[in-house]
Amino acid sequence: MASVTLDSITKAYGDEIAVEDMNLEVRDGEFLTLVGPSGCGKSTTMETIAGLTQPTEGTVYIGDRDVTNLPPKNRGVAMVFQNIALFPHMDVYDNISFGLRLRKYDQDEIEKRVDRAAEIVQLEGMLDRMPEEMSGGQRQRVAIARAIVRQPDVFLMDEPLANLDAELRIHMRTQLQRLHRELDTTVIYVTHDQAQAMTMSDRIAVIDNGHLQQVDPPLTCYNAPDNLFVASFIGSPSMNFFHGSVTDDGFDSEFIDLGFDPEEVGATPGKDATLGIRPEDVYLKRDSEEATVPSDTIKAHIDVLEPMGDEVFTYLLLEEDVETSAEGRGEGQLLLSLDPQTDVEEGQDVEVVFDRHEAHLFDSASEEAIAHSLA
Ligand code: ADP
Ligand code: MG
Repeated sequence: MASVTLDSITKAYGDEIAVEDMNLEVRDGEFLTLVGPSGCGKSTTMETIAGLTQPTEGTVYIGDRDVTNLPPKNRGVAMVFQNIALFPHMDVYDNISFGLRLRKYDQDEIEKRVDRAAEIVQLEGMLDRMPEEMSGGQRQRVAIARAIVRQPDVFLMDEPLANLDAELRIHMRTQLQRLHRELDTTVIYVTHDQAQAMTMSDRIAVIDNGHLQQVDPPLTCYNAPDNLFVASFIGSPSMNFFHGSVTDDGFDSEFIDLGFDPEEVGATPGKDATLGIRPEDVYLKRDSEEATVPSDTIKAHIDVLEPMGDEVFTYLLLEEDVETSAEGRGEGQLLLSLDPQTDVEEGQDVEVVFDRHEAHLFDSASEEAIAHSLA
């Protein structure tokens, strides 16, 4: 086990800055996930830790060792990638043990490690299979076992489940959590899929455009996002946003107004602000007792219902002639999540409230959070 520290890491490819001034401390034994949209710099960060790329500026520490200039094999890390490259002409045993054989470990030690790794990823009894005789998930487990036998201080996994189908991905998610518990090793995991980030991690590091946005436990990022990017990226479907301004006695926007004492929530009258409300914090007025502190009533019109089985995503228009676009939810739209038992239909007029206790306010200019409750 070891901690990993990135100290002011910048990586530029010519004019293109992939990662800028990143400071991150991954704790010993922690499962930390780098999450963010495609191209935000996750893989670059991983490759810098692994030693597959040199940072333009900054220092990488594993434990207290400055490893910035060490080759990958001397860093005590093992990496699992999205595209697993198994040797097609070798069976599972030979694939898993390849690195150890190359390093001339003795036969008993190799066997011991391979057996143990196969047990952890549940490949016992398949050691003599060839890769072509295995499913995608099984092959991915071989790749993980190959990393396990190296007994690294730090596991690096870059989108290891991205090529698997949805069901297998969810299954492997659980497996990886067990693996982490079992190995008691530091794991740094990369995904663009926030469901993986939320479910597996001790903490997530949210990255946008080469910049670290927030490093916190998943639920902290969900309940108290530091800024508009984290608020919109974490949570699916995403938060509803309303752009307006802070007044002397609350918040004003085209469709939603809200009374509060600006001083009490730390907002400045006259400033542009954005109100954020998650779909599950909006209720039909008749269910308003479910909100800790219900807002004033909002009149709306049901546009589209999307039954998901366990909930119904309900898209509302806040005025009849609101323009909708394919680009996503606009200002005059509000999404709420309803219980499937709820008796509503498309085209119906409804009255809704949201929970002021769960309402978020952001500074529109800086995009930083101002408050996570407007009760
Ligand atoms: P992610 O893994 O989050 O999708 P990457 O770290 O792969 O993102 O890429 C971050 C940015 O750096 C992207 O804009 C990408 O085009 C650029 N980039 C990554 N690798 C290289 C490279 N070898 N040469 C030039 N640009 C690169
Ligand atoms: Mg990547």
